[in-house]
Amino acid sequence: ETRVRFAPSPTGFFHIGSARTALFNWLYARHTNGSFILRIEDTDEARNTQEALEVLLKGMRWLGIDWDEGPDMGGDFGPYFQSQRGEIYKEYLGKLQAAGRTYEQDGAIFFKLEGERYTEFDEYHGKEVEKVRAEPVEIDDAIRGKVVRSETRDFVIFRSDGSPTFHFVNVVDDITMKITHVIRGEDHLSNSSKHVELFNAFGVTPPQFAHLPLILKDPKMGKGKMSKRDKGSLIEEYQERHFLPAAVRNAIALLGWNPGDDREIMDIGEIIESFDIKDIQKGAARFDEAKMSHINFQYLKELPVETYAWFARPVLTAKGLLAEDHDEDHLQRVLAICQEKITSLEELPLFCAYFFSDEYAENEKAKAKVLKKGNAVELASQVKEALSAVAGDNWTQASLEAAFQDLATAHGMEKPFQWWPLTRFAVSGTSSGPDFLPMLEIMGREMVIGRLGRFLE
Ligand code: GLU
Repeated sequence: ETRVRFAPSPTGFFHIGSARTALFNWLYARHTNGSFILRIEDTDEARNTQEALEVLLKGMRWLGIDWDEGPDMGGDFGPYFQSQRGEIYKEYLGKLQAAGRTYEQDGAIFFKLEGERYTEFDEYHGKEVEKVRAEPVEIDDAIRGKVVRSETRDFVIFRSDGSPTFHFVNVVDDITMKITHVIRGEDHLSNSSKHVELFNAFGVTPPQFAHLPLILKDPKMGKGKMSKRDKGSLIEEYQERHFLPAAVRNAIALLGWNPGDDREIMDIGEIIESFDIKDIQKGAARFDEAKMSHINFQYLKELPVETYAWFARPVLTAKGLLAEDHDEDHLQRVLAICQEKITSLEELPLFCAYFFSDEYAENEKAKAKVLKKGNAVELASQVKEALSAVAGDNWTQASLEAAFQDLATAHGMEKPFQWWPLTRFAVSGTSSGPDFLPMLEIMGREMVIGRLGRFLE
């Protein structure tokens, strides 16, 4: 059985790079029908607060990355917080001590490499240090291929304050949690030789390693590795900006992986089915903000309007545009004509405010354009008169079209289009928006006539 883990150290942020590591592990577990374990590497007590953990758990839940073992889930290999695994670490230290692979120096416990010892002047330390000619460690990384590294110095596994170090607990946990594949960021590749030395000392075959490529900044934002200060780098940000979690997850899946063809928009079942470690690229991945937004837009466009409304309602409510009990049918009718016109839910409140409230902003440019012609008042009163003749129970797109057509005919015009921009501005304060006649129909008679009247005041 495949057993993979995501082993974050909670920092209070959920960086897109961590989310990618979590997602790739999860995808691999789901692809192989294995288990995905969430292990919290919380040995750095100062940084690891409950809030920091919540950010992470919330982000994972939002992305739909569920874990089979870990916090709130339990499992046969717990506890899943390193801070609660002290007894296990002591037991494993005992094994190394019994095998003669440790020694104490200045209160710290060192792991002893095997090999011939010699001393050498070390530039970095500015003094003679003891080195070891240890067998080179060969790692057959599933992404990087064969990586050979030699450890030359013993390293600390327990600090003088009695706390175990990252390398030690990481390996002990991977052993005791029976991890089969370690999928993690490339920044850990250089740690792997230490880890393999430890696995060997415990007499355990190391897991299959797979080191994920770096994520570089969007070229529009500069060069180098993406950092948590870069726009788009935190999962919290996508939550706040009302991105669709499935879209964000889809975009993150493409950071260093692709299905081997040019498919980009894939539902999660398709991604799970196509996903495999061997298809992860070796070269750096590049964050692409425009692509993230584009994928989000594609997802939004495809949503059934009921689902779209489910995401949109809280966005509009938060802006004070909707009451909690606002009529669902009306909401969906409005959204149905707006859905394809906007690229993100973030834009929705501004785009459709005037359907729900009289307190909407007027677009100055649109206003200037409408008033420029000099006949705005005349046109508006003609429209008001024509539409007033349409009864409330007959207020349909077809009747409105007919009323406009009659107005045109009465003025010896073939088409009524000269009345439209002005009317749109008078009822919505802008020059663009959803299709015109459906918009008027959904606004309803009272709102349309009322706003034409207000425009004429
Ligand atoms: N706690 C380590 C990190 O957050 C985990 C490294 C690993 O996956 O082995 O980078």
